[in-house]
Amino acid sequence: MSKKYDARLDKEIRKLAMKSGADIVGVCSPESLYKLQDHELRIKEMVSDASAIVVAAVRMFPAPIECSQSNVRPAQYETYCLYGQLDRIAFDVSRYLDDSGYRAVSIPAFLPVEMSTAKRGLIGDVSLRHAAEEAGLGRIGINRLLITKEFGPRVRIAGIVTNAPLKIDGRLKEEICNKCGACIKACPTGAISEDGKVDMKKCAPEILKYGLPGLIGVAKKYMGKGEKEIVEMTKDPAYWELWQTSVLGNFYYCFKCIASCPIAKKQ
Ligand code: SF4
Ligand code: SF4
Repeated sequence: MSKKYDARLDKEIRKLAMKSGADIVGVCSPESLYKLQDHELRIKEMVSDASAIVVAAVRMFPAPIECSQSNVRPAQYETYCLYGQLDRIAFDVSRYLDDSGYRAVSIPAFLPVEMSTAKRGLIGDVSLRHAAEEAGLGRIGINRLLITKEFGPRVRIAGIVTNAPLKIDGRLKEEICNKCGACIKACPTGAISEDGKVDMKKCAPEILKYGLPGLIGVAKKYMGKGEKEIVEMTKDPAYWELWQTSVLGNFYYCFKCIASCPIAKKQ
C-alpha cells in the first residue's frame, strides 16, 4: 500500500463502479502485470506514474449463454450490452478519478486493439483477464478465461489505469477451476488442451467466424472474380452476416467453453 493511500477515494471508486453496474471490483498493481509481454511499456505509455489498475467485472445472464447452443444471437446481443455497460463503468470511474486530480485511462473491454501481425496480433493493450486475476476477482482456468467464484467464467471485464493512491488487492490463493474438463469436451475445434493452453489458430475461425477471419475468407473467395461472381457475393448469407456483425460491432459466434463450465452455474 502506498504511503499516500487515500481510503476515502478508494471507497468511493469501488462504490461508484458497483453503482455503474459492476458485480465485482478489485484493484491490482501495474507491476503485477509487467511479466506479460509489452505490459510495462503499454501501461507507462498510458500513465507514466501508474500506481493502480481498477478492474470491474459484470456478469453474463445464464439464459442467453445456454440458448447460444442453438441460437447464438441472444448471447451476441447480451455481449454487446455488456460491453456497453463496461464502457460506462470505465468512463464513470475515469471521470471521477480525473475530477479528483488524478490521471486515468480506460482499457477497452473489447475494441480497439492493436492490429499488428508483426508485434501483437489481436491482443488488447492490457490483458484484462490477468489484471482481474491479480486484483483478486478470480483465477484463470483451463479454458484461459477468468473463473470467478460468483459467476464462473460468465463475466466480462473493464479496467482503468491510474496514478491514484488506491489499495492493492492481492490475487486469490486458491484455484477455482476444478479441472473437470467440461470445456475441453465442449470445444468444437479441440482448441483447449488439458495443460491449460488455448490454440487461437483453432479457436479464432470458430469464435470469429464472421469477424476478421470471416472477412478475409469472403475476400479471398470473391477477390478478382468477374461481375457475375460479385453479384453472387451480394446474395451470399456469409456476406450478409459480415454486414450484421460490423453493424453490431460484436462478432463472437462461440460460447461453448463459457456455457459448459460448472463453476457457479445456475440451472
Ligand atoms: S470459444 Fe469456442 S472454439 Fe474457442 S476455445 Fe471456446 S469453445 Fe473452443
Ligand atoms: S469447465 Fe472445468 S476445466 Fe474448464 S474452466 Fe470450468 S472448471 Fe475448469
